[in-house]
Amino acid sequence: MATADTEKQWTILSLIRWSEEYLTEKGIDSPRLNAELMLASALGYKRIDLYTRFDKPLVREELDRYKALFVRRIKKEPLQYILGHADFYGRRFSVCPDVLIPRPETEHLIEATIEIVKENDIQSPGILDIGTGSGCIAITLAAEIEGAVITALDVSDRALKCADENAARHAVGDRINFKKINILDPYNAIPDSGSYDFIVSNPPYIPLREWEKLPDEIKAHEPKYALTDERDGLSFLRRLTELAPATLKPGGWLICEIGYGQFDEVRELFDTSGARDIKHWYDLAGIKRTIGGHW
Ligand code: GLN
Repeated sequence: MATADTEKQWTILSLIRWSEEYLTEKGIDSPRLNAELMLASALGYKRIDLYTRFDKPLVREELDRYKALFVRRIKKEPLQYILGHADFYGRRFSVCPDVLIPRPETEHLIEATIEIVKENDIQSPGILDIGTGSGCIAITLAAEIEGAVITALDVSDRALKCADENAARHAVGDRINFKKINILDPYNAIPDSGSYDFIVSNPPYIPLREWEKLPDEIKAHEPKYALTDERDGLSFLRRLTELAPATLKPGGWLICEIGYGQFDEVRELFDTSGARDIKHWYDLAGIKRTIGGHW
């Protein structure tokens, strides 16, 4: 592009076609979609606007803005960080390199929580979200469950800032209290312990040896502490099941996302801690992805 764009008059369509080919060669999945989303972002358009302006000639500043994004993608930075946002449960969330990109698997945790709220007719539930990251779980639950009041914890100041911005964007900031806490630290007391109807969490459950095998796109760009405990993957799940009985109201639920093949071990942790009615929910790949139980 560097040499070509001095000679050639690029249009939206010719640039998309050229990019699609280049991204394909570099092994990037969904090359056309990637190109369209980055170009729409560089131009300040919606993706659909590109289709009605295929012949629009692109000026130098537009090409430069696009090129800056394109180069990052060639270096395998995840598209969501480049665009600055990701979609989760039908809402848009800002993401920065300090937070995990929300994943579709995590939407099952939302569905599971809503299901339990409805089944048990729980009014204005108090919910504790542990490891909130972008805030996607806390904010979605606040928006989906009437009157839900949420405390959302994270160890990272920068993640909490991102989550706070997302809460404001979705107008639920008044029902979410963000707080910096490391739940593995025994000296860090959970605020309002004993008052929660739910603890929800998508903890860093990937064992270190599995993290090492993840694609570079994830390993080099997403925060390691949000993905792995750098041990067997169960440190946070152990801690959550330990904390649950005293943190929840009697009858309160702990609902967590878990990794591939972890269900039996995590079920055991729930069981040992005295959980009842342990349930699971599958993801679209047929994996037991979410576990819940109450005390
Ligand atoms: N709760 C956030 C999410 O589900 C962050 C999870 C994490 O950082 N492990 O995306």
